[in-house]
Amino acid sequence: MKIEIVKNILEANDQVALLNRETFNNLNVFTVNVMASPGAGKTSLILEAIPRLNSSVAVIEGDVASSIDSEKVARFNIPVVQINTGGNCHLDASMIREAIKKLSLEGIRYLFIENIGNLICPASFDLGEHIRIVISSVPEGDDKPYKYPGLFSTVDAVILNKIDLLPYVDFNIEYFKNGITAINKKAKIFPVSCKTDEGIDSWVEWLKGENRYK
Ligand code: MG
Ligand code: ZN
Repeated sequence: MKIEIVKNILEANDQVALLNRETFNNLNVFTVNVMASPGAGKTSLILEAIPRLNSSVAVIEGDVASSIDSEKVARFNIPVVQINTGGNCHLDASMIREAIKKLSLEGIRYLFIENIGNLICPASFDLGEHIRIVISSVPEGDDKPYKYPGLFSTVDAVILNKIDLLPYVDFNIEYFKNGITAINKKAKIFPVSCKTDEGIDSWVEWLKGENRYK
C-alpha cells in the first residue's frame, strides 16, 4: 500500500508571519494582536494600557477605513501607523510587514496591533505576534465563546469589557466563562471596564508579566 506523505508547506501568510516574529524578537518588541468585534473596545483598552505600562509603546491600527483610532493613539505622542484595508475584513502578515517599515521599533517594548473588528477570519492569520487577546463586551451577549470558538480557542486572554453595564443587561458571567474554558483551558479571563477603570490594572499587570523583553 502506497503511503502518501503530505508535505507540510507553510502558507504564504505564515512565512511572512515568521519574518515578522523574527523582526520583533531581534528588536525585543513584545507584540500583542488585539481582536474583537466592532465596538467592543479595542482602541479604548489600548488607550488604557499605554500610560500604565511605563514603557515605550507603538501601535498599528487596522481599520477598513478612516484614521479615527490612530488619531486617538497619536495623542500620546507614540509611534502609530494606520492600515486601511479598504474592505478587507482582517489584517494579514504582509500588511504588518509593510506597516513596520514605517515604524521606528528601535527601543519599543510593546507593540499593539489592533485588528479589524471581526470575530471570524482574524483568527486564521498569524501576524507574527507573541500573544493574542480577544475583547468581548457585555452588550454583545454572553454567548460569544460558543458562537465563535475558532477565535476564542486561539487566544491567550479574554478581556470582558463594559462590566459597568452588567446591572442593565442579561449577561451570565459564569456561562460566558464556561464557554471559554470548554475550548481554551489556558486563556486568562479579565472582566474590565474602560469607563470606570475597574479591572484594568490587573489586566495590565498580567500583560507586563507576559512580556519577556521588558
Ligand atoms: Mg478601534
Ligand atoms: Zn477576513
